[in-house]
Amino acid sequence: MKKVLFASLMLISLVAFGQKPNVVILATGGTIAGKSDAATSTKYTAGQLPIEDLLTAVPGVEDFANVKGEQVVNIGSQAMNNDVWLTVAKRCNELLSKGDVDGIVITHGTDTKEATAYFLNLTVKSSKPIVFVSAMRNSTSISADGPKNLFDGIITAASPDSRDMGVLVISNDYIYNARDVTKSNTTNVATFVAPNWGPVGIAYNGKPYYYHTTLRKHTANSEFDVASLSELPKVDIVYGYSNMDASIIDNLVKKGSRGIVFAGVGNGNIYPEALEALQKARKKGVIVVRTSRTGSGRTTLDAEVNDAELEFVVADDLNAQKARVLLMLSLTKTQNWTEIQKFFFTY
Ligand code: ASP
Repeated sequence: MKKVLFASLMLISLVAFGQKPNVVILATGGTIAGKSDAATSTKYTAGQLPIEDLLTAVPGVEDFANVKGEQVVNIGSQAMNNDVWLTVAKRCNELLSKGDVDGIVITHGTDTKEATAYFLNLTVKSSKPIVFVSAMRNSTSISADGPKNLFDGIITAASPDSRDMGVLVISNDYIYNARDVTKSNTTNVATFVAPNWGPVGIAYNGKPYYYHTTLRKHTANSEFDVASLSELPKVDIVYGYSNMDASIIDNLVKKGSRGIVFAGVGNGNIYPEALEALQKARKKGVIVVRTSRTGSGRTTLDAEVNDAELEFVVADDLNAQKARVLLMLSLTKTQNWTEIQKFFFTY
C-alpha cells in the first residue's frame, strides 16, 4: 500500500516537474551582481558576479520553474545605453516568440531600471511576463536584498497570473508596472515607489498577488517596433530652475537633439529665458515635452504655458526619464507634435 502511494506521489511530482514553466534570466549587472570587500561597507562595485553565481543564492527556486540564464552585459546601470536597450528588447521578442519560454526575468541596476523597463514595456510584443529584478545592497553586503528579489522575480515571471500585465518591476516584495515605478531614495531598500498610482501587487510565499493593472497600452498592444531599428533618435532632458542658463538648450539643438524633455518647476513651468530657447528649438522642428521636477502628479495642458500656441507636448503623469523613452520611440514613428501628444495620453 505504502509502495503504491509512493509511486503515485512520484508520478504526480514527475508530471508536475514536466509542467514547470521555463523562465529565462537576462542578466545586465547592477548592485544585485555587485561585490564589496566588507559586508558592512557602503563602498562596492556593481556588475561583478555572473548570473550563475546569482542563482546559487536562491536555492529552492527550481521547485517553481526551470531557469536558464544569459549574461547580456555586466554593468552598473548608470552606464546603460541605447544599444543595450535595443539588444535586450530584441532578445526578449526572440525568446518570447518560442513556445518553450514562459517568462523572462531581467536583472538590472536600480539607477536606471525604470527607463529600461518602460522601454521594454513599449517594445516587447508579447503577453508573457517580463519582470525586472534588482537590489539596493550588493551581494556581499549584510542582509543583501538581491536573493529575495530574484526569487520573487522568478516566481512572478513563472506565474500565468502575470500575463498581460505589461513589464513588471519587483522590489522589496512589491510588484509595480514599468510605466509607474520610479526610484525614490538613494540608498534605502524601499526605494521603489509608484508615486501616482501605487504598486499593482505583491509577491508573497512563492506567488504573485495582483490588485490592479494599468489601462495604458503596452507590450503586445504597442505600436512601437524595434525590429528594424539599430539606433534611436537623440532626445535630451533639461532640468528647470530659477535664474537658469538657457544656453544648454541651444547647445543641445546644435548637437542634433530631436526632442527635449523639460523637467519644469511645478506643473512643468519654465523660466522665461528657457521658454524663449525652447520656442526657438520648436521653430527648428525639435519636439518639446513638458514634465515636472516635483516627482509626482500630472503635467497638464495649457495651464500656465500656452501649449496649443507654442506647439509643446505635455508628459501627462510620466516623469522626465520615462517621457524621454516615449519621446524617442514616438520620433521613430512621426515628427507631428499633435500625434506625439496623443502617444503621451495613450502609453
Ligand atoms: N549604480 C547601481 C546600478 O544602477 C545601483 C544599483 O543597482 O542599486 O547599477
